[in-house]
Order: sequence, then structure tokens, then C-alpha cells
Amino acid sequence: MIPGPIEFEPAVLRAMGSATTSHVAPNFIESFGNSLDMMKSVWQCPSGQPFILAGSGTLAMDSAAANLVEQGDKVLVISTGYFSDRFADILKRYGAAVKVLKALTGGVVDTEVVENELQQTQYKVMVFTHVDTSTAVLVDPLPIGRLGKKYGVLTILDGVCSVAGEEIRQEEWGIDVVLTASQKAVGVPPGLALLVVSPDAIDKWKKRSTPVGSYYSDWSNWLPIMNAYSDRKPSYFGTPAVNLVAALEVSLQLILKEGLSTRFERHKRTGAAFRAGLSALGLAQVPLNNLVAANTLSAPLFPDGISGTGFLSFVSDQGVILAGGLLPEIKGKYFRIGHMGSVNKGDIITTLSAIESGLKHCGYSFIPGAGMNAALNILNV
Ligand code: PMP
Repeated sequence: MIPGPIEFEPAVLRAMGSATTSHVAPNFIESFGNSLDMMKSVWQCPSGQPFILAGSGTLAMDSAAANLVEQGDKVLVISTGYFSDRFADILKRYGAAVKVLKALTGGVVDTEVVENELQQTQYKVMVFTHVDTSTAVLVDPLPIGRLGKKYGVLTILDGVCSVAGEEIRQEEWGIDVVLTASQKAVGVPPGLALLVVSPDAIDKWKKRSTPVGSYYSDWSNWLPIMNAYSDRKPSYFGTPAVNLVAALEVSLQLILKEGLSTRFERHKRTGAAFRAGLSALGLAQVPLNNLVAANTLSAPLFPDGISGTGFLSFVSDQGVILAGGLLPEIKGKYFRIGHMGSVNKGDIITTLSAIESGLKHCGYSFIPGAGMNAALNILNV
């Protein structure tokens, strides 16, 4: 129950374990092409250009930054935690003049503050994180997408902890790049960096005046490959992660079979159940309120006097693996529970039960069963 890698569906793991074919074998070309098509559906971006690259989520961030930023370009980063700050570092590496608007820990930056900044300075790109995995804070992408269009600024959304878990309507919301990694709500073992890029962003990229500073990330190398696979033709630039792509095809099929609205609702219910369970146990959470709380993971604070290491290792002995804190400012004060992908009612109750056992073991007093009951009140409706 960590926020990625998540638990994977058996059908996805079976596809992953099947014989590795050539990257120009007909069945692989079909899998790659189908995956590109399905990404447009899952991202809800029919006119977008999908990219499937071998690498982790950080490569997806690197790819967006390397291709859309040139030396001296002004970039606004809206930071809600550790991963937004990482994005700022990547952008600086490609020469961007970065301004960071930092939210209070557990909060978001007000839309008016962002608009005020856009009125004062003409930015080329604006970057934000849908769910920052270090804080479990959820940002509403719609107003930021609208501001991007209003002020002619390209928007890049880090959706590593959200795509296929939190609602995303990339095209309708006017977001230029939505990127993720395979190991989270997309439900495929780690190793794929996935992006969908708007026609506007492709256009701006084509008009660059300097070459892209990263050879591997350069879309000039990858766009012809994506186009070839889309047309079900063989192609080669760098050997694709053949087995991961086979697994991606199966996982995207499962996601679309469940239905996007059903899947988003299921994640909302799961998130609400965890938050209710944790509150009933008296645990405060990093997100300042439910409106800014993610549905893909939760970030409860330890009650006073409870040490993270003692608690987490006891919970792990109960068979439930949770993650420690990540945001440097509050690292030892909280822990994280991932609940993306195929998490079901049994997983939620088992996790809350292990948390109750851990709290009891650490000498914390609470009403036994309160967490599980509060969660069940939400799950049983
Ligand atoms: N952004 C967010 C929001 C993340 O949660 C992560 C990974 N936890 C990353 C970026 C980086 O992804 P990766 O570890 O796959 O490089």
C-alpha cells in the first residue's frame, strides 16, 4: 500500500512475463499502436500526441522540460511539494528562468495568486503537479488550464500520481502536456515514461530556435517512431521496453473496460474512506482540508509521541507495507498510504486494521474499530 509501485493486476503481469519479441514484430507493433490510441482515451485528449518512452516518471518530466524550454525562457512553477520542486530543478538545468510559487505545506496556491503573477510577467510555460506524492495535495487543473489559455502560456501537468486515478480531461481543460509513469495508477511495473502533448505544444516545439539539449529526450528522435507505430509500421530509434509495452496495452484495456468515470468515482470513494478512517482514529493529515486532499494516496500525521520507525515496521509485520514521509520539512512527522489502481474494500479494511494494531502497539489510545467502521460507512453505501 505504498504510493507506487502499486499492486499489479495478474493479467498485466502475465503480459509482462510473455516471450520478448522483436520491437518490429507485427504483434508488438500492434500493441504499441493500440497503447498510443488508448492513451489518448485515458488522458481524454483525442488530438494529443502520445509518447511512450523507456524510463521513469522523472524522464517524462525531463522530456517535457528539454523539449519545451530554451535558454532564458521564463517558467512559472506552482509548487505543492517535493515533486514540484524537482520539476523546478529540471527546468533550470535546461536554462529556464524559473519562478516558484510555493503553497503552504498541505495547501495549494490560490488561482488569484497565479493569475496575478501571469499579469505581471509573460511566461512561456507554467508547470504544476496534480497530486504531489510528498504531501497528498490535489490541485484542480481546470482553472490553471484556463489561465494558461487566457495568458498564452503552455501548461505542463505532472500527473505521475494521478493519471488513471484522478479525473483528467486534458483537452477540455486545455492542458498542453500531461505526463505520468507506469508504476502508479496506470498499473504497469516501473519503467515507462508516458506523455500526451497538445498540438499547440508540438507547434511551439517545432518553432524552437535552438536544438534540444538532451539527445535521448529530443522529440525529433521519438516523434517519427510514435507516428510509425500509430500507423502500425515498424520503426526504430532506441529499443523500446518491449515487455512493459505489452503490459501497458493490457492495463489500458482494463482501465477503459472499467470505464473512466467509474474508475475515478472508485478512487474518490477509496480516498474518502481512508480519510474518514484516519480522522476517526484522531489522526490529522497533511492536506489542510478534504477539498485539497488526493484520492490516490493519504498522508496522515503521527500522533504525538509515536515514532515513525517503530510504527511502520510493526505495521509491516502485520503484512501491510506503508511509506514514510518524504517532504524534508516534515519528513519524520507523517506517513503515506498509497491507494491507487486495483485497491479494493478488503485492502482498505486490512490496511486500517493494521494501522489500528500499529497505533495500539505504540501505546496510542483510540476506540478500537473506529477507523474501520468509519471507512465502512463510506464503502457500504
Ligand atoms: N512526480 C510525482 C508526483 C511522483 O510521485 C513521482 C514518483 N514518486 C515522480 C514525479 C518521479 O517519478 P519516478 O520516480 O518514476 O521517476
